[in-house]
Amino acid sequence: MKNQLYTNVSVFDGVSKGTYLGEVLIQGNRIKAVVKGKNQISKEGAEVIDGQGSTLMPGLVNCHGHISYPNLGGSLSDIGDIPPEEHMLLTVHNAKTMIDYGFTAVVSAAAAKPRLDIVLRNEIEAGRVPGPRLRACTPQFNTTAGPWDARQLHMDHATFDEIADGPIEFRRKVRMYIREGVDMVKLSISGDNFSREFAGEQDTTISEDEIAAATEVAHSRGVRLCSHSRSDQSVLLSMKYGIEIIHHATHISDRTVEKLGRKSSKFFVCPALGITYATAYEAQDWGVDADYVETRYLVREFELGCKIARKLVAAGVKVLPFGDYGVAWNPLGTDSRDLEHFVNQVGFSPAQTLTMATKWGGECYAGVGNTVEIGEVKEDYLADLIMIDGDPLSDITLFQDQDNFLMIMKNGEYHKKPRNRRISRKQRQVR
Ligand SMILES: [Zn+2]
Repeated sequence: MKNQLYTNVSVFDGVSKGTYLGEVLIQGNRIKAVVKGKNQISKEGAEVIDGQGSTLMPGLVNCHGHISYPNLGGSLSDIGDIPPEEHMLLTVHNAKTMIDYGFTAVVSAAAAKPRLDIVLRNEIEAGRVPGPRLRACTPQFNTTAGPWDARQLHMDHATFDEIADGPIEFRRKVRMYIREGVDMVKLSISGDNFSREFAGEQDTTISEDEIAAATEVAHSRGVRLCSHSRSDQSVLLSMKYGIEIIHHATHISDRTVEKLGRKSSKFFVCPALGITYATAYEAQDWGVDADYVETRYLVREFELGCKIARKLVAAGVKVLPFGDYGVAWNPLGTDSRDLEHFVNQVGFSPAQTLTMATKWGGECYAGVGNTVEIGEVKEDYLADLIMIDGDPLSDITLFQDQDNFLMIMKNGEYHKKPRNRRISRKQRQVR
């Protein structure tokens, strides 16, 4: 492909508090030049794209993705009931949906079956199916009586977890997943309100010797970890054992917030607010009644999640949007509702929220201590870019409509070729 020169675009670079009129040159799979103003970069040998004042920004990075979750609304074992062959195809469809909505990179926070993420990542990297860059994860490691254990004494039920008990089994199974090719291991260290009958959110469901065994194996093989950690204790255990991505952290104490703040270069927190919001307020049509919402304290849980996100960011912690989309009332593709929650419910500014969704997400995708190559519109970065019809800093909901994506590029290649804005000619000339 010829060099691509974007002119007349409003650039959100992933870092700045606002946008600026600029030009961006893409050569091969990298961003070659980013310049403020007009007619600054030579057009020679380049294909010129007039952005007509639309917003050019880094692709979105989702660091709590479940691409293989099937958008179902029944019991957890409905997910386990899907045969692997159908499940793989469904996962491939979901991957296309994710990139259609501007997600050019996803750090998985658990696959629904052992090899779904691994196979998907390999197919995407080989260019055979469309989808975001992907860090492939294990299913959620869980223990007997942990939050996703739906088995009955007289009958087995698979869900989306990987059950292990005892350090020996944790070691063996983590090694097995390393052999299969995962990038990430997920541990469900705390319970959850959704399973509060037998594994509530304050319960520590993986014991310390099991965490030590799993993390020792993963670290020794260069595999990263993430955890489901609702309770303070589970966050502290994640920190102690170098689990980089901490999901939820809903009941973290002020002391632990400060502790995380002091180690802010080593950890990321994804509160995953969307699932709690959608279950509390929008799931009635799927049989989630007021009693369910009440007995699981979901309204309180959401408000607390917003408060904790504010405290964490104030302490200097990198908090990331997105997470736990993939159920009927919170389906994959609507993940950007989290951006709306971050602005309207948590109170972050739109620019701050988009920095979290791009630059910080890019850092999380790279992993602590590694070279960051995505998440900013910056010279020499990989060309993962989206062009939005409108200004997301004044309307954070723009990402929720696929038609607002005028262009989607990953690694310098088009997933969606540039198209004209849906505004009149007169409006285009205003700039
Ligand atoms: Zn999750």
